Amino acid sequence: MTPPRLLVFDFDGTALGGHEPYAEFPEHFVRFLDGLEAHGIVWATNTTWSPDIQWELIRRSGVRSAPAFLTGQTGRVLAEVREGRLIPDPEYERHIAERDRLFRKRMWPAVRQVFMELLAGNLVSRLAFDYYSPQCGIDFTCNEGREEDVWRTVQPLLDLGEYYIFNPAQRQTGVLLPAHMNKGDIVRVMQQRLGIRPEETIVAGDGSNDLHMFSPDLCGWMVCPANAEPIVKERLSRHEGIVAEKQFSWGVVEAVEQVLAECEEMQQ
Ligand SMILES: [Mg+2]
Repeated sequence: MTPPRLLVFDFDGTALGGHEPYAEFPEHFVRFLDGLEAHGIVWATNTTWSPDIQWELIRRSGVRSAPAFLTGQTGRVLAEVREGRLIPDPEYERHIAERDRLFRKRMWPAVRQVFMELLAGNLVSRLAFDYYSPQCGIDFTCNEGREEDVWRTVQPLLDLGEYYIFNPAQRQTGVLLPAHMNKGDIVRVMQQRLGIRPEETIVAGDGSNDLHMFSPDLCGWMVCPANAEPIVKERLSRHEGIVAEKQFSWGVVEAVEQVLAECEEMQQ
């Protein structure tokens, strides 16, 4: 067993939660992050939060160690910290923008068709494309009683594999993200830049939007806290991941300590 060299973790429900103020890491998690270096492990984030807000949170929490990378907006932005300053990566962002442009060009006719059906059938009270930023995301609220019809209408986009549901637990509202906007691809980007192999990587998350990074191609260990969604726990149990007994960041620490203990045992 190769010892881990990189820990990638999600924010909401994973590093955050079960603690006030919410937008601060609990003290035990700060100590944990700062102690990783002694084990030869660097850490990086993978969340919807933008890197500048993450960096503020990290500093406010009193973390002394610097992340190897901060990634945000579901894999769309990448930043690193040099001499205490956050440095964004415009080249990576240009690459993402170009990917969006090609996707939009290819998929707009199909999206437009779906939108026309949703509007003609008076199925939605809110419908948006590129709502938060030009990211090809689809965002809607169903008219009451029309949920089934709405989901049936958008299903072709899901069947094509071009979109996935950001939060499958919601029915009345929906956010569909383009398949290329995910938390998985960016894990590989970080590994390549750091020269760290997938089998040396631990990923930690709790939600269905973390499933892209819970892939055996991307990591040697998958861990989640006890509060993780059932679909995450099911994925982890299929891939010998660790479902912690504790919740939120306490669960992450519990699981990573288990990984470290297993590695130590193997080396003896
Ligand atoms: Mg989460």
